[in-house]
Amino acid sequence: MRNYKFRLYPNKVVEAELNRQLDLCRWTYNRLLEELNKAKEEGRKLKRYDTQKLLVKLKEEDKPELKNVYSKTLQMVNQQLWNNIHTLAGRKKKGYKIGKLRFKGYDLFKSIFYNQSGFIIGNKKIILSKVGKIKAEFHREIKGNIKGIIISKRADKWFACIQIENSKQEKKQIKLKPNTSQKAVGIDVGLNHFLVDSGNNYVENPRFLQKTADKIAMLQRQLAKKKKGSNRRNKVKLRLSKSYEHLQNQRKDFAHKLSTEYVKNYGIIAVENLNIQGMVRNNRLSKSIYDAAWKQFISYLSYKAESAGRILVKVDPKDTTQTCSVCGRKNTEHLNLSQRTFKCSYCKIELDRDCNASRNILIKALYGREPASMLAELRPLRQRKLPQVRVLKREAPCKSLG
Ligand SMILES: [Zn+2]
Repeated sequence: MRNYKFRLYPNKVVEAELNRQLDLCRWTYNRLLEELNKAKEEGRKLKRYDTQKLLVKLKEEDKPELKNVYSKTLQMVNQQLWNNIHTLAGRKKKGYKIGKLRFKGYDLFKSIFYNQSGFIIGNKKIILSKVGKIKAEFHREIKGNIKGIIISKRADKWFACIQIENSKQEKKQIKLKPNTSQKAVGIDVGLNHFLVDSGNNYVENPRFLQKTADKIAMLQRQLAKKKKGSNRRNKVKLRLSKSYEHLQNQRKDFAHKLSTEYVKNYGIIAVENLNIQGMVRNNRLSKSIYDAAWKQFISYLSYKAESAGRILVKVDPKDTTQTCSVCGRKNTEHLNLSQRTFKCSYCKIELDRDCNASRNILIKALYGREPASMLAELRPLRQRKLPQVRVLKREAPCKSLG
């Protein structure tokens, strides 16, 4: 699925209505969550369908105003809630410490979903059921089947994100280089560089990530000092959400360029099923920003690979750092994050740590758990240049440092 994002310009009346709808959706979200928590305490197990049914009761009895919200939009609130529950459960499975799902405060609910129906896209406007007509700025032509619209509020601006299903013609959009379908690459994302691949290329961490992360951290500190409800606090808040929006745009742009390069050049791309250990910088904010950037890159890679007929393999990250990509044996010594070199205690080879990992990822993707017997063909991968993003050749050869 692809998205188009457009700016919306609602008039005062419609904007008030949008704000009201956001609040009703938020109320519904919190109310359904409350119901789930209650059921859990009482030992009952509710499913997605049960909370969906509850929506009808809420409309009839508890909150008749909900009738002013398009019915599918409310169903999407239910869906959002369950998506969040599943995301949380997934993180728990991966060993992250997780808390409870939290209620959404006023500032934390920002999107209204229209799925499949309830909207019309016209000339310079979007018409939403139960909301009305909104002026829109379509700076690009919308091609393909529209699947839904997400109306969102960022800082003081409104946006429509139009979701498009990929059609067959679009699969040809990325121009593929000839004879690349047999080429395979393993990619290790992580700490010291944004990524390192098995062809001995690396991409530096984009500097804007750290820069914007620092700015956001600074604004957060400022915000903590300002009085609640004060004008100054609101100003800082606005700047904060603008910084987040800026970051998102930069991140998307970067992920688009980088993922296109890989899809153009390789027929088989292997990545880890994301599980980045340790901290990038020493604070949680940077960590979450980098996490988001990697996820975005892999998600773009995934849909572009699919559209272009490439194979993307996600492998289990277990032991990719510990195993020697040359002899295939697992080393017992645990590498900590500061150790940059992998030294095999069996075959004595020394390799750059991330490059070793990226080769193991590729080996896993191509041969399952088979060790190095089929490795010979992997080694002499040629250098390639990515024009728009900074991909640098390592100075020290990855093949052997010793
Ligand atoms: Zn070895």
